[in-house]
Amino acid sequence: MTFGSVNHLSLTVSSIEKSEPFYDSVLRFMGYQQVEKTDAFTMWWLENAGAILIYSANPNSDNKIHDRYSPGLHHLAFNADSREQVDDLYKLLVEMGATILDSPAEYNQYAPGYYAVFFADPDGIKLELVHMPNIP
Ligand SMILES: [Zn+2]
Repeated sequence: MTFGSVNHLSLTVSSIEKSEPFYDSVLRFMGYQQVEKTDAFTMWWLENAGAILIYSANPNSDNKIHDRYSPGLHHLAFNADSREQVDDLYKLLVEMGATILDSPAEYNQYAPGYYAVFFADPDGIKLELVHMPNIP
C-alpha cells in the first residue's frame, strides 16, 4: 500500500437495511467484495484500494440528517478507469432508483477532461465516480 493512502473509510448510516443493498450494488460494481458482516458493521474490500465500512447510527442520536455543509464529510469520490464506467454506474444507479445529484458530464472547472457522476446514498451522503484522463 502507498504510504499515506486511505486504508479504510467508515460511514454511519441510519438504516443498515436500506444502505447495505445500496453500497453492495455500488461497491460491487467497482470490484469491491463484501468481506465481513457483524452486528456492528458491514465491510467491503478492494485490493490495492482499501476498505469501506458502514455502521449503524445510534438511534438515540439527535442528528438524523446528513448535512455536507456542516462539519464532517462533504463527499467521497471514487476513481474510474474510463468514461464508460462512469456512464455504466449511472445506468445502474437509475435502475436502483438512487438519487442522482449531477448526471455524467465533463466538469472542466475541476480539471481538464474531468468526467463524473454525482449521487447520494440513502442518507444523503454525496458520492462521486470520476474519470480524470491525466491520472494513470
Ligand atoms: Zn469531488
